[in-house]
Amino acid sequence: MLNCDLHCHSTASDGLLPAADVARRAAANGVDMLALTDHDNIAGLAAARVAADECGMAFVNGVEVSIEWEGGQIHIVGLAFDADAAALNAGLAAIRSGRIERARRMAADLERVGIRDSFEGAMHYAEDPNLISRAHFARYLVGIGVCRDMRSVFDAYLKPGLPGYVEHRWASLPDCLGWIHGAGGIAVVAHPGRYKLSPRDLRRFLGEFKDLGGRGIEVASGSHTPEHVALFDRLAREYDFLASRGSDFHGPGESYVDLGALAPLPAGLKPVWTAF
Ligand code: AMP
Ligand code: MN
Ligand code: MN
Ligand code: MN
Repeated sequence: MLNCDLHCHSTASDGLLPAADVARRAAANGVDMLALTDHDNIAGLAAARVAADECGMAFVNGVEVSIEWEGGQIHIVGLAFDADAAALNAGLAAIRSGRIERARRMAADLERVGIRDSFEGAMHYAEDPNLISRAHFARYLVGIGVCRDMRSVFDAYLKPGLPGYVEHRWASLPDCLGWIHGAGGIAVVAHPGRYKLSPRDLRRFLGEFKDLGGRGIEVASGSHTPEHVALFDRLAREYDFLASRGSDFHGPGESYVDLGALAPLPAGLKPVWTAF
């Protein structure tokens, strides 16, 4: 089977490597087809595509859109869209515009629990201020020794209900799917095992996603356990979803798995790349 990695990040969002380096690293790891899927931003696609072409690796446009569903944050990956589509670009710009203000409020909250200057500190880690993310705050807090790793920062400060967490308005599911489909792309639920949804709510979400024209789910993901893979293998068959595979690589030493270095899709599923 092809080694396809259809989910990863560059410095165009909260990854550690420039987009071209991500593509070169994927090719060196034996990836046959790569999609770069930065959070709410497609600015890295052109450079990644040039580097992928130079390496003889197939490249697919991608993006990971932050949406809000019933009060929680969910991520939708868009694949194989036209990067010049006006509505998609405008929608992504609208999501990005709230991030700086949210980061200021996060820093004000963290100040109340004794952590000073985290806005400036987190910004220092962000290439593009508009893409300031909780991951940049986490890197800063690890950097100043408040926590020993990123996961501990999220568990102590950055998840809902904790002192550095700030509610934020992301896109709605219908808007997000409208932008992806309007640009001729395929919408895929990112790492469905990561959401804290009851089995019943998960099914309601997948039903709404399908009714709106969503076609795929990530079955193989860097953040999935073998139990998640088995569950989403079953759900992909039940809902007749295309199956995707992505590492969610953010950087060397920081991610669950390296580019292309995850289990293949279970046999018998329809890989999403057969629809490109
Ligand atoms: P944001 O888009 O600003 O809400 O930040 C979300 C990002 O934080 C994700 O894309 C991950 O890169 C990172 N992240 C979320 N949860 C965790 C966690 N538990 N441990 C480490 N990184 C996380
Ligand atoms: Mn991220
Ligand atoms: Mn995600
Ligand atoms: Mn991701």
